[in-house]
Amino acid sequence: MGPKEIAKDIYLVGGADITDSKDCLIYLINLGELVLIDAGAGSNVEGIVVNMRKLGLEPEKLSTIILTHCHIDHIGGAKELKDRFGARLVMHALDADVVERGDDRMTAADWYGIHLAPLPIDEKLTRAEERIDFSGQQMVCLHTPGHSPGSMSVYLDRGGERILFGQDIHGPFLAEFGANMSHWRESMEKLLALKADILCEGHFGVFQPKEKVRSYIERYLEEYGE
Ligand SMILES: [Zn+2]
Ligand SMILES: [Zn+2]
Repeated sequence: MGPKEIAKDIYLVGGADITDSKDCLIYLINLGELVLIDAGAGSNVEGIVVNMRKLGLEPEKLSTIILTHCHIDHIGGAKELKDRFGARLVMHALDADVVERGDDRMTAADWYGIHLAPLPIDEKLTRAEERIDFSGQQMVCLHTPGHSPGSMSVYLDRGGERILFGQDIHGPFLAEFGANMSHWRESMEKLLALKADILCEGHFGVFQPKEKVRSYIERYLEEYGE
């Protein structure tokens, strides 16, 4: 599978079937400057870069990488992308800690057979909701703990549609990784309330329209006992 445009200015540039079997789904938003949602495991960053070029996007314009949570399949490529293109790294403070100290266990790096060098995060978010302006377009980072303490979901309104990036909202939920089911249920209620038109998910793909986004989230709420 190759990279593709999901909606106007929103692209899928990496993933298990696209760049490397260890990678989460990696999304790119073109707002004049480029914003990446997650960075994959780091085994094939060049593949992400090649895919950007294939789509006619210049990786040199990558300004920011928003890391949805601390797991290695989402953050492993961040350092190389930052070093090559000067992108700043944004993450929730509650997950930044284990990344900054290079904790192979809490980032699940050891599970993937990867070693994570300590990675400084440029901007650590602490509020329930933070708006970041990119060349006049606002993106909203919502703190949605559950899968991990500092998990975030990100959304923006563009072209009359609300596009939600909800990476590992499906779990798994492991206590040793700081998962918390009651926090997660609250987080899912927050996401349902957004009434997003498109859900760009972390491992299972893209869900649309609105009804499919809702049923995707509700299915997990039922599975884990509301
Ligand atoms: Zn995860
Ligand atoms: Zn994941």
